[in-house]
Amino acid sequence: MAEPSPKEAGKPARKRIKLLAVIAAVICLFSGLLPPIQRGWKQLYALVGLGPSVSQTFSITFLDVGSADAAILYSPECAILVDGGTYDCGPELYRRLLHMGIDHLDLVVNTHPDKDHLGGFSQVLSHLSVEEYWEPELPKELIPETEEYRLVREALKESQTPIQTVSAGDCATFGEVTIQVLSPAVSAADTNNNSLVLKITYDGRSILMMGDAEEKQEETLLSKELACDVLKVGHHGSNTSSGEEFLAQALPEYAVISAGKNRPPDERVLERLEKAGANIFRTDTQGDITLTIENGEILVSSENIK
Ligand SMILES: [Zn+2]
Repeated sequence: MAEPSPKEAGKPARKRIKLLAVIAAVICLFSGLLPPIQRGWKQLYALVGLGPSVSQTFSITFLDVGSADAAILYSPECAILVDGGTYDCGPELYRRLLHMGIDHLDLVVNTHPDKDHLGGFSQVLSHLSVEEYWEPELPKELIPETEEYRLVREALKESQTPIQTVSAGDCATFGEVTIQVLSPAVSAADTNNNSLVLKITYDGRSILMMGDAEEKQEETLLSKELACDVLKVGHHGSNTSSGEEFLAQALPEYAVISAGKNRPPDERVLERLEKAGANIFRTDTQGDITLTIENGEILVSSENIK
């Protein structure tokens, strides 16, 4: 009799492992061992060593979405999306989330409702469950009348996603991940300067997410604790943002710029960031940029080596 191929020989064992995994998962469910956040079956399998490989450390990926913003934050305790790129980014954003094994988002943050920051949300909200949606409070005259904005409102309503307007002082914690809202404290006259500015901390490291905040909003932040390890540079590296005084306080070790090939970062901003001592990463030349925090160390990798 021919020896069974390794593939065939492995089959019954794998079936047994799967069965054991399901039994273990059910026991976990009923004994309250699972984290309070509902993670779905993929995560359940992942907990017992099967299913998609999800990172067991903190990571944040700044997606190459051109002159727009979209970042996926993942830790064993939470999955969060900060901004959703343009409408055209929606299908790729959804695909990336699924590829990472994420079928539920604990939080979606829209820093401000310009179409390069929320366009892709409607497709994500139509397919994934979202625990909560954050946005800044805006005066009526600043609420956009774009098709993108209308579609997102519709998707939020249809999916019955709870919407929270947040402002300076608000905070959320997901296990070891803390998200503080540093700004805005009061409404400004345009959407960019009403951007939600977030400080995300994990394992003693911090990431400052600026949305499209310009110097006007940066000035309102100077009294805050701005020191950070990573700066997600404001307004796609435009010269309207990243002022010298602001950078002198933030002093990031790494600066990430989400920019498009047709609208690269301003040279003057690059000079100011270099002067502040930051290692600069840019999506327009390096593609997706992923930052991982493991044992207090920050590792940065990019899709294209540059
Ligand atoms: Zn923008």
